[in-house]
Amino acid sequence: MRIHNLGFPRIGQDRELKFALEDYWRGELSAEQLLTTAQNIRRQNWQTQFQAGIDFIPVGDFALYDHVLNTSLMLGIIPDRARQPDLTPLDTEFLLARGRSQQGCGCNASDMTKWFNTNYHYIVPELPSELTLDVQPERLITEIREARQQGFTPKPVLVGPLTYLWLSQYDDDPLTLLPTLLAGYQKLLDALASEKVDWLQIDEPILVTELDKPWQHAFISAYNQLKFGPIKPMLATYFGDITHQTHWLGELPIKGIHLDCSHDLDSVVPVINALPEYWSVSLGVISGRDVWRTDLNELHDQLQPLYEQLNGRLWLAPSCSLLHCPVDLNKEQRLDRELYSWLAFAKQKCQELALLRDALTSGDTRAIEHYSEPVVNKSSSPRITHPKVRDRQARLSQRERTEPYAQRKQQQNQRLGLPPLPTTTIGSFPQTQDIRQTRARWRKGDIGDEQYQQQMQAYIGDCIKQQEALGLDVLVHGEPERNDMVEYFADYLEGVATTDFGWVQSYGSRCVKPPLIYGDIQRTKPMTVQWLQYAQSLTDKPVKGMLTGPVTILQWSFVRDDLPRSQVAEQIALAVSDEVEDLIQSGIRIIQIDEPALREGLPLKRRDWEDYLVWAVSAFKLASARAPAQVQIHSHMCYAQFEDILPAIEALDADVLTLETSRSQMALLDVFKQQAYSNDLGPGVYDIHSPNVPDDNWLDTLLTRALEVLPPERLWVNPDCGLKTRNWPETKAALGAMVQAAKRQRHKL
Ligand code: GLN
Ligand code: ZN
Repeated sequence: MRIHNLGFPRIGQDRELKFALEDYWRGELSAEQLLTTAQNIRRQNWQTQFQAGIDFIPVGDFALYDHVLNTSLMLGIIPDRARQPDLTPLDTEFLLARGRSQQGCGCNASDMTKWFNTNYHYIVPELPSELTLDVQPERLITEIREARQQGFTPKPVLVGPLTYLWLSQYDDDPLTLLPTLLAGYQKLLDALASEKVDWLQIDEPILVTELDKPWQHAFISAYNQLKFGPIKPMLATYFGDITHQTHWLGELPIKGIHLDCSHDLDSVVPVINALPEYWSVSLGVISGRDVWRTDLNELHDQLQPLYEQLNGRLWLAPSCSLLHCPVDLNKEQRLDRELYSWLAFAKQKCQELALLRDALTSGDTRAIEHYSEPVVNKSSSPRITHPKVRDRQARLSQRERTEPYAQRKQQQNQRLGLPPLPTTTIGSFPQTQDIRQTRARWRKGDIGDEQYQQQMQAYIGDCIKQQEALGLDVLVHGEPERNDMVEYFADYLEGVATTDFGWVQSYGSRCVKPPLIYGDIQRTKPMTVQWLQYAQSLTDKPVKGMLTGPVTILQWSFVRDDLPRSQVAEQIALAVSDEVEDLIQSGIRIIQIDEPALREGLPLKRRDWEDYLVWAVSAFKLASARAPAQVQIHSHMCYAQFEDILPAIEALDADVLTLETSRSQMALLDVFKQQAYSNDLGPGVYDIHSPNVPDDNWLDTLLTRALEVLPPERLWVNPDCGLKTRNWPETKAALGAMVQAAKRQRHKL
């Protein structure tokens, strides 16, 4: 039996890659130094996996910026604007990844979007209608040689041709480009064959989705066209099961298949039985998407019959690439011992595989019994199950607000007295160096609570003053106390822990540190009240309370695997509703519950959408359920693809919904018009990702256009997301223009 890995985090155990990239981009590190850092990380990663006992080490999973971008570069799929004679390959790579801001150079970055339902973002390949390839396998070949020289057995990894096409941007049916693309893949295969590659991992995660017939046919014909020669292809599927594809998969001329069985081992048995008997079967039994220690003992017992049945054909692996895990648990010093004993990061997951293999092959289960002990004890720990929380869930009666929107609207109008086209912002104001430093110093204990509070209040005071001067109608406190909109709340929730080094790559050099939801959730004390109360004390205008919604907190955390996500969301919703209650008690009249991650929580299979949307929407409604009619509930969402979940967005029944609309402004309004969206709407009038101040013409056109769709009393005027990444001068100029534009429209009414 073999154990292998599908991919390892590339950011480095101390985020070396992040820092090297950023130094390089600032011009403080040479290309050579950057490449040396990258080489060291690869060596370290391979060593870690090898020392853990992994047989086949993935090679080609590493990327300076993104592995999909690497695939494009390897195939020579480079848009014309990045084909400039004076650019080095490294320049081209970063130009596509990040763009270049020089005036008029037209060197915008390629789009970036989520890698399936993870929080990793890939660079979307841009396919021209006249696709010509220029295959450059050198980088991959070099890495294969590098690994061999260091004594490892490499198993190269490629993004498969069908998945690559599916992830690309193309105006027409992308399948028409398949023949050209396959010719390129063939060249890659030939190069790998000359390099005497044995096993090759080809990632085709799109098999998890419900592929329609043309794509299924394309799969069969594509793989039958490719000549693998001596290479043994292992088709890797992950992020869910592929039971629905088994009836045709056997026609693929491959030598092995990897199946994600992190959720359910039983359901793979019929899949295995339906596949050709000569295929190797890699079972992804260790979850690559979470941070929990595996109960190897239980897994061992479940695997035993399969081990006997498959024998030498059986491989074991994590369910997917470990890219989505933090690197090494050993670095966490602050976590208490019990919690620590429930966890496993990427390095530990590799060790789990080896332990499992050893137990299966030797029949000696003592080591895995010992290893699994904390997981077994976990279920009876009082930190996991909280009778009070369970009781509250069981007795829940009020799950949504009682009055309908029309009635609420009337009461809110009376209480708030806002003008038509009210102006507001999404919550955060510029996060200055100063404010970041203050937070860091307070966390380290360098400054005390009092000094911290003073400095936060000074920022809040300034924010309020600026907003009043600009003439905004609904103010915010500016969120200076938050490093991150999820981590901040996690620190106040029982059942949720935060780590010091649990970094996971989000895109390029950007990493996030998702909180760990390990047990039943309860709010320990008010989370935002003191800041909001202070802000409101400084002004007569309404200050909007700012909370992160239950679905977003869930989506951007590592979530326990012993309770359905819907239940965890409900617990978070209750904690948020406690905060809503306290804010209302302290005199706050408007509360925004942000749900930017609602859409990205959608399951990969369409047939599971409905189920998800039902519980996600009810979690949001539960969070806002205790707001009486005269309290106005706002929500905010990012990412422009709302079309296909519009009924769910309507079902949230927020009094006001503000949306990121950036470039798709017009299209989005049409959608809302057609669907006769009935509540208040604030389609963002300018893109906060750019430092440019929106010009008056643009603002006037947009608002005029929006007024054709929405009556003035239901149209809000706001930027399309929070302002934390902007600086103050830009912010003041842009908001000033926005407020003036709203005033111009009001005069016309
Ligand atoms: N209130 C948050 C902010 O303004 C919302 C951020 C988001 O939508 N991602 O920063
Ligand atoms: Zn946003």
